[in-house]
Amino acid sequence: NRLSYEAQTMMSKRHMERAKQVMPGGMTANIKHFEPYPIAIKRAHGSRLFDVDGHEYIDYLMGYGALMLGHGHEEVKSAIQQQIEQDGTWLFGTPHEKEAAFAERLLRYFPSMESVRYTNSGTEANLLALRLAMAHTGKYKIAKFEGHYHGAIDSLLISVSPNEQDAGTAHEPNRVADSYGMDELAMQNTFVLPFNQYEHCEKILTEHAAEIGALIVEPLEAGIIAPTNDFLQKLHTLTKKLNIVLIFDEVKTGFRTGMGGVQNLYNVEPDLTTMGKVVGGGFPFGVVGGKQEIMGRTSPLAGFDFFADQDQTDRKQLALFHSGTYNGHPLVLAAGLATLDVLEEEMSDLLIRTEQFKSELEAVFKKHSLPMKAVGIGSLFSVLFTNKESLSNYRCFEHVDKKLRTEMDRALFQEGIYVKPGNRYSMSVAHDDEAIEKTIMAYEKVVPTLFPS
Ligand code: PMP
Repeated sequence: NRLSYEAQTMMSKRHMERAKQVMPGGMTANIKHFEPYPIAIKRAHGSRLFDVDGHEYIDYLMGYGALMLGHGHEEVKSAIQQQIEQDGTWLFGTPHEKEAAFAERLLRYFPSMESVRYTNSGTEANLLALRLAMAHTGKYKIAKFEGHYHGAIDSLLISVSPNEQDAGTAHEPNRVADSYGMDELAMQNTFVLPFNQYEHCEKILTEHAAEIGALIVEPLEAGIIAPTNDFLQKLHTLTKKLNIVLIFDEVKTGFRTGMGGVQNLYNVEPDLTTMGKVVGGGFPFGVVGGKQEIMGRTSPLAGFDFFADQDQTDRKQLALFHSGTYNGHPLVLAAGLATLDVLEEEMSDLLIRTEQFKSELEAVFKKHSLPMKAVGIGSLFSVLFTNKESLSNYRCFEHVDKKLRTEMDRALFQEGIYVKPGNRYSMSVAHDDEAIEKTIMAYEKVVPTLFPS
């Protein structure tokens, strides 16, 4: 006998009505929307969100996975305060100590990185990675995977969530735009591959090797689906042979499977890695890191190794422009460094706690004989409606019962569990046993009402 959603969220409704007057759909980002309207949050602490109607929620959205220490972690707070109070400002616009200090830390965790550049988002990091790949190979087409998101970039916002009618065959997916208004030419320069189907990838990449300069992949599809056997390793070998720059987009997965990326887990060194979210400690941030011979193309240094044998005019033509007012922002790097310090201490506990949480959830699903699974590696997972033994890629989710999904998320929400949008459980060090226990109890309560036996 729960209150209706509207009765529970009257102030949020009022807020959204106001917001709609001044912003399309009342939103600052499309992903924030869910039916009938999202709640507005007023305050947060640790693992909890508090909405404008005064309700408390256990937060599994965690800033789209960016807040791996939870809300308002003391060490991040004091690092930010220290930056402002001791160093006197929050933006130098010049080189400063934290830039190199942070890069040194990243190189320590990611053996594939010899050099890094910073951006202000994961999207920007991927834009830079693509440009680097094109400059490096002199080839201007791209390959990406169906179901993989890399930001709202014309050449990459393709076949992220195509509907069944448009998607084409599982082996050679169609190229489907996920937005109106994208550059037609950029789109046509992108090839779409099926994840975990090596032979089909090999065929497409080999056929178009003369044109494709970059292959970008989420090494865990959608941050949760594992590559089969040696899929990543084989892509690595193939791209090397075909002179294609291999980019691992670890924006979601960086520091989610341990101190490093999925690349460390599978022992594959991509040419370039992009990151965001966790490394910025909850601030706008992105990283591109990789091989010096590629990264070095952004160097403005005259006489830099690459350009040593070029005359001045050629050097200018060869230089790859990368800049940004806020790149290497001191507050972001302060928050990022503090986050990495805490994660070094807390990582293994968090990974163990997440595994326990997943197995407790699965026990609930089993007890009620439900076709549901907690899928993911490390501190990020999704609860999926499926009874498939193994999940290989986007196509495994074609027949998800969307109505049931909505009902379940809504019911959990009304029990104080915040998973929308995206239905992803982004665990943080603030999710303690009590938070997990409460979540399990909410599932125990909700599940029988959705699947009456
Ligand atoms: N790549 C991946 C794998 C992502 O998950 C995201 C964001 N969800 C992005 C890129 C884009 O990052 P941002 O939102 O910081 O631009």
